[in-house]
Amino acid sequence: LKDNYDIVIIGAGGAGMTAALEAKAAGMNPVILEKMPIAGGNTSKSSSGMNASQTKFQTEQGIQDSNDKFYEETLKGGKGTNNPEMLRFFVDNSAAAIDWLDSIGIRLNNITITGGMSVERTHRPEDGSAVGQYLVKGLVTNVQEQQIPLFVNADVKEITEKDGKVNGVKVVFNGTDEKTITSKAVIVATGGFGANFDMIEKVRPDLAGYVTTNQEGSTGDGISMIEKLGGTTVDMDQIQVHPTVQQEKSYLIGEVVRGEGAILVNAEGKRFHNEMDTRDNVTAAINALPEKNAWLVFDSGVKSRAKAIEQYEKMGFTVQGDTIEALAEKMGVPAADLKTTLDTWNNAVTNKNDAEFGRTTAMDNALTGAPYYAIKIGPGIHYTMGGVVINTNTEVLNKDGQPIPGLFAAGEVTGGLHGQNRIGGNSVGEIIVFGRQAGVKSAEFVKAQ
Ligand code: ADP
Repeated sequence: LKDNYDIVIIGAGGAGMTAALEAKAAGMNPVILEKMPIAGGNTSKSSSGMNASQTKFQTEQGIQDSNDKFYEETLKGGKGTNNPEMLRFFVDNSAAAIDWLDSIGIRLNNITITGGMSVERTHRPEDGSAVGQYLVKGLVTNVQEQQIPLFVNADVKEITEKDGKVNGVKVVFNGTDEKTITSKAVIVATGGFGANFDMIEKVRPDLAGYVTTNQEGSTGDGISMIEKLGGTTVDMDQIQVHPTVQQEKSYLIGEVVRGEGAILVNAEGKRFHNEMDTRDNVTAAINALPEKNAWLVFDSGVKSRAKAIEQYEKMGFTVQGDTIEALAEKMGVPAADLKTTLDTWNNAVTNKNDAEFGRTTAMDNALTGAPYYAIKIGPGIHYTMGGVVINTNTEVLNKDGQPIPGLFAAGEVTGGLHGQNRIGGNSVGEIIVFGRQAGVKSAEFVKAQ
């Protein structure tokens, strides 16, 4: 560890490591400080994939998409409240972000669909596995290859400034060893506050008692540090509750399961909502059930296409039956009703017409391949859409809308892009697009000093 770096990056999740790689490529000498014992943050838990439009992989696979469509669907999902400049920048740079990842050996060429979109746009690893682990592994490898220093157990407590300019951080190593590091710029990539129950309950008392899918380092530190320097926040009460979380282990069951064809049924063995609706609407539908939980039901075909299911099985989340009746027994739902539900659904798939709930996507395959499976799920705190206000240069803005010199932020710590509801797959897109931008723009700032 040195006393001085060009750029200090706080947080070794997807946004922080991406920013570090771009800063290094721009000739900078950055350092990454991570408070947990390992790198990865919530990024390593992300499952669905990375949304991007007009990508080379979509073109290769004959998927017709456009940046405008991506923009419109994200805006609709966010209830029209997304920051329009941020959203425009995001969609327009999404394909380049996929190319950049490919250029550093991180290939996301297996494309699926998540709730709230009309075409396959969610890019995941070739083998269809969850995106997070793969992405983090690839980024860590690159960070090592580029010899970017990354310190774990390095908890940043304060961002320092002099004469209105950010000039470094105060950090505590291994819980005891306090150090001051100076720099010309600081990039805050500390993630969200989905594991900070005090902060959540302050803005959303109605979420008391919910489980969280977040890693324990997601405590909103970056937000409070930035507020102390005059930064502002937006949408802090917009907290995404994910509809499909295994409750006992607070473990997210990825949207890919529905994206590859699963349905949701209630305790009566009946469907109750369009499974591919946006996360907020599916959550509301589950919360409206008397039991406030539901079952994801799928067949061996879904299991083979959504690789993440192997992990869920290993963790003991799945129940299984060679027939629908046998599955119903394991689930404790009426067998005849579950059978009718599946027959009706399979007809809807064949006729491409879900007369009951109007689902129009992820209907390519009927659920007919034994064995059959189910996973019991309920809602859990998943993502904090709000956060600090930045512009498309990732400069942190004060209450007058002016950049705070030397202070940059990217990733879940920022607010505005997602508006009131994040579309699954957009956060991985966000950390790469804006992480890159933070690396590039902070380097420009440092060079101009
Ligand atoms: P993003 O998706 O925006 O990159 P992640 O949750 O993946 O966010 O990563 C954020 C990282 O920042 C996590 O690994 C988290 O432990 C780390 N972090 C949070 N607060 C601090 C802090 N005060 N000092 C150092 N690292 C922090």
